[in-house]
Amino acid sequence: MSTQYDTERLRKSDAAHILHPASVVADVSNNGPARIFVEGKGAFITDTEGKKMLDGVGGLWCMNIGYGRTEIGDAMKAASDQMGYFHTFAGASNPAQIELAEKLIAKMPDHITKVFFGSSGSDANDTLMKIVWYYNGLRGKPEKRKIIARRQAYHGTTIATASLTGLASFHRNFGLPIPEVKHTSLPHYYREAGFNESEEEFSTRLARELEELILAEGPETVGAFIAEPIMGAGGVITPPKGYFAAVQAILKKHDILFICDEVVCGYGRTGHWFGHQLYDIRPDMIATAKGLTSGYFPMSAAFISDDIWKVLRDGSATLGAFAHGFTYSGHPVGSAVALANLAIIEGENLVANSAQTGAYLHAQLNDTFGNHAHIGEIRGVGLLGALQLMADRDTKTGFDLKHKIAARCAVAIGNHGVIVRPLPTADSLAFSPPLTLTLSEADQMVDAIKKGINQVMGELNAEERK
Ligand code: PMP
Repeated sequence: MSTQYDTERLRKSDAAHILHPASVVADVSNNGPARIFVEGKGAFITDTEGKKMLDGVGGLWCMNIGYGRTEIGDAMKAASDQMGYFHTFAGASNPAQIELAEKLIAKMPDHITKVFFGSSGSDANDTLMKIVWYYNGLRGKPEKRKIIARRQAYHGTTIATASLTGLASFHRNFGLPIPEVKHTSLPHYYREAGFNESEEEFSTRLARELEELILAEGPETVGAFIAEPIMGAGGVITPPKGYFAAVQAILKKHDILFICDEVVCGYGRTGHWFGHQLYDIRPDMIATAKGLTSGYFPMSAAFISDDIWKVLRDGSATLGAFAHGFTYSGHPVGSAVALANLAIIEGENLVANSAQTGAYLHAQLNDTFGNHAHIGEIRGVGLLGALQLMADRDTKTGFDLKHKIAARCAVAIGNHGVIVRPLPTADSLAFSPPLTLTLSEADQMVDAIKKGINQVMGELNAEERK
């Protein structure tokens, strides 16, 4: 099937017409796209040249049910044939979004009672930021607007959510972050803890630094704190012991809401339905997207607590309509896709498979890299993880980031047939394969990662000797 494509023509046309997201503009326009993908089945995708790869990242951390699931196509076609689209503004609705909302709310903690549908992880976080502002305005605290995120975290690329994202490249030359957004410490114990500082002491210090920031800004100006249970694109950073308990105590003390960004962690990725279940987090708001539809349809679901909802409801008397929404909010085709996706996750016990195969994958990685001179840490839970690359693990010295070691390793691993994600700022290699992953596919991942890393480290040693 793949031989039917004229790859060269496609590459030239792509280079001539497309501004690629998150790509070096000159590189793509000079060289064309690196690969053009055309087919997928399970954990594997194939490009126009017939090269088949195991997608160890699941697209962009979203392909939870695996590629090429015809059940999704069937659900999509049926919903499209039946109506295709109608909006949900001004009180309009459709049965698919109603059924989806009911199903999702049943999976949430009891105090989370309402959902707002959108199209992307960015718009879910943007929506929740706006709800913080709207809610605090209604409570007579309109100045309580600042949102605190963590350095290195990723929360999206709209004006507001790129501001939340704590990565310099997402701010530089865009005039961001907006003044309402502040950043606090990165909770990466391995790289950020002081000498002899225990995990608990590190968590206590981070909570203290958060409180110092809140006090410096003025608690009456801080509306919310946003965090992923496990920081995904920031490096798959699992929180140190006691971190969320310490942080939540500070938030409570200063009447600050907790927005839990589950865009990566949600829908089984960590071996639990949601990441907040792992760490005793009691969020006031939850953003989800990606695994909600496994990427087959662009859709997000943003959740709020009953307390927040009641303030919004009572505000109707003064403000009238809640003046926020998207053309595609509660899309009937997207909702049908999400329902079919959830049916697969449930029917095939993919949350349990994420836990079990994830544990196996981590065990294999630990066996392979536990004593490796250039791997400092193996992080993650379930089918979400990362390897920390280090120049010298004994002295805890990182590589000079200008060498782009993570990107080099990812290319080498790709040449062995497995896609992993280089995270340049964290100098890590991340993985989040489909939750359908089998044990032999996990072995294939470990084998390619080992060969790729050892090849690059061998090349580096040779370069140094020259
Ligand atoms: N939050 C997190 C944690 C994410 O990882 C992402 C995307 N990688 C987003 C939000 C933004 O999602 P989207 O790209 O769908 O806007």
